[in-house]
Amino acid sequence: MIQDIAPKVFHNSFKNKKAEPQDLFLSYESDTVLVKENKNKLWYPSFSDFEEIHPNLKENAQFLFNIDDINYYLVNEKNLDVKGWAYVNTNRFRTELKYWRSFAGVVGWQLNRWYVNHRFCSKCGKPTKPSEKERMLYCETCGFQIYPTISPCVIVAVHSGNKLLLTKYAGRDYNRYALIAGFAEIGESLEQTIHREVKEEVGLNVKNMKFYKSQPWPFTDTLLAGFYAELDGDDKITLDENELALGVWLERDEIPVADLNISLTSEMMEAFRTGSVDL
Ligand SMILES: [Zn+2]
Repeated sequence: MIQDIAPKVFHNSFKNKKAEPQDLFLSYESDTVLVKENKNKLWYPSFSDFEEIHPNLKENAQFLFNIDDINYYLVNEKNLDVKGWAYVNTNRFRTELKYWRSFAGVVGWQLNRWYVNHRFCSKCGKPTKPSEKERMLYCETCGFQIYPTISPCVIVAVHSGNKLLLTKYAGRDYNRYALIAGFAEIGESLEQTIHREVKEEVGLNVKNMKFYKSQPWPFTDTLLAGFYAELDGDDKITLDENELALGVWLERDEIPVADLNISLTSEMMEAFRTGSVDL
């Protein structure tokens, strides 16, 4: 999965630390990120790469995290037009082979959205300031504090004997098989979310829910909790056509082999296909 970057280690603890020339920085323009051109990988710039043309970038840079001993910063300056560097679509985070590069980029992208979307206090409307002690924005006027948004979500692999329930989303470019997925709503446990989402999306009941693994999914500010759940009763699918274009039961040997393994969904489908998960 995209967060599995061993032997490298992602450290998310906050540091109030000024950027140094050798530190890397991330610069985003809506759904694009700045990388070196003509590299077949997500190669992020260091401040020294931009020293000549943008000598002041370090001053306002915001510390994000480090991977091993490499520090990553976020810069606010837009349209950094330097020869040899270009903004590329963040879909590249889904295809980069070195997960530590894509994970750094996508976590930075989530934090960038959080900083950009909370420049003003949602309680009183005055500008916010970054805390020097932790990853938090606060309002000096009314004292309101804002922490990064993480929404819990379930991924449910519904199975019955040798079959797995697979779906395809409606109205999206993404056309691979998926599992049942949905956000936990107010006042709900994850178990209740599972029952509700499975019922809403395919009209089925489940039992014997078994937690598999979780995954941070910075693309959508979510924390995914993956469960296998056994079909309880009738296997007739009633599709929610607003959300899904397809819902089918596939035998293990009919399930396509996963080609991209960045997501918990792919890993769970693959684990069922190969019979490597104990249900
Ligand atoms: Zn305020």
